[in-house]
Amino acid sequence: MQTWAIANQKGGVGKTTTSLCLARGLAADGARVVLIDLDPHASLTRAFAVPTDPPPAGSHDLFNPGGAELRSLARGTAIDNLLLVAAQPALATLERRGATQPGLGLSIGRALHAARANFDYAVLDCPPTLGLLMVNALAAADRLVVPTQTDPLALHGLADMLRTAAMVERSRRRPLPRHVLPTLYDRRTRSGVQSLDRLHDLYEGRVWPKAIPMDTRLRDPSVLTAAEAPGGRGADAYRSALNWLLAAMPRQQEAA
Ligand code: ADP
Ligand code: MG
Repeated sequence: MQTWAIANQKGGVGKTTTSLCLARGLAADGARVVLIDLDPHASLTRAFAVPTDPPPAGSHDLFNPGGAELRSLARGTAIDNLLLVAAQPALATLERRGATQPGLGLSIGRALHAARANFDYAVLDCPPTLGLLMVNALAAADRLVVPTQTDPLALHGLADMLRTAAMVERSRRRPLPRHVLPTLYDRRTRSGVQSLDRLHDLYEGRVWPKAIPMDTRLRDPSVLTAAEAPGGRGADAYRSALNWLLAAMPRQQEAA
């Protein structure tokens, strides 16, 4: 099983949209994919219209003493080969427990390891905060995908995120290949074009050479979670980004 963490310490950069589009692309290729919502805001869980009151079984249960089994928490979706582990509001309280319970940082990694025969890919939709959940995801990931908005402020957020990833990589003593995915790109704005150029200058080789364009169809959760693949420029761009990530994989593993 391959685990991909989709993370950025900044909110609203397209993490959830990216998680969903990459996961459904992998599932469309025939892989068995589990999508795990690690964000207490539960946007991904809502996109799949999972009722949140009362809270569903989900990713918080992986942190219970003894740890629930990932497979038992994964629910079917309308999309073939794609299962979802929902987010629960209690995720927000985890950061406090993390300080007092050693070992919580590896809960997700352990759960994924135990379920490695059940899935080909796990895609982790991370919260926009550097805390226990993000550390769990980065500790468990085989690769990190950082969606980044193409505006000047977002570039600072990206630098923070890559520094965090380098820190986790040093402590876990296993390479964490990182890829930057420019998102929400508007080629009609000067700041968009300039920011994309700057991204390529700063992170050459790690940045997908294209960008996910603004596309209103990507804003509609019911389109993104429907059985039928969403069409349009945004969805096509995500397919092309996925192909790039898949092609980068063997090379990065050899380098590692
Ligand atoms: P994050 O998970 O980083 O907070 P989201 O994926 O939720 O980001 O995206 C933030 C908002 O932008 C959402 O309303 C989403 O529907 C919208 N969005 C994301 N990507 C695109 C895009 N390429 N074009 C148009 N809207 C987008
Ligand atoms: Mg999100």
